[in-house]
Amino acid sequence: MPRSKRRTEIPRSPASTATTPLKYLGGYPADLQQQVQQLIQQEKLGAMLLKRYPQIHDIRTDRALYDYTLGLKAEFMRKSQPLSKVVYDDKISVTRDALGLHTQISRVQGAKLKSKNEIRIDSVFRQTPIEFLRMIVVHELAHLKEKDHNKAFYQLCQHMEPDYHQLEFDLRLYLTHLDLVGKLC
Ligand SMILES: [Zn+2]
Repeated sequence: MPRSKRRTEIPRSPASTATTPLKYLGGYPADLQQQVQQLIQQEKLGAMLLKRYPQIHDIRTDRALYDYTLGLKAEFMRKSQPLSKVVYDDKISVTRDALGLHTQISRVQGAKLKSKNEIRIDSVFRQTPIEFLRMIVVHELAHLKEKDHNKAFYQLCQHMEPDYHQLEFDLRLYLTHLDLVGKLC
């Protein structure tokens, strides 16, 4: 028997799944990541998330998303720059650093330079619990005032959503589950 053939017969050790990097949780401590790995292996992560976030929101259209975002803006950031567009976008790939995408487009109108603000939300948020949509919209609204992810930025996020940090962590758990296991059901 050729050597190469024999090599393919070696069964994958179950432990190999434990070393799968958790791309959405890269910024969190190693022991926390290990706990998450354990929950996935014990098939408990989905049930835990479902218990905490049992319902999917019904903000499915760009129109509904725009109204929802403007509602939050009117409540917390009345004086910020106007928003011309808020849409779901399936071309954004959700990563550790860019969960949404805020863009500012400058247009020359006559002699005046006018800028238009747009928010694009990854279309994965079209069907998530409302808490995660709220968290990402709050994040993008905060960027109207603060471009960078600095202290002032996170203070503004927490002003709009006191549970911001917990929700961001849980969102990362949710995305991890979506990636490695599938939808919550
Ligand atoms: Zn950001």
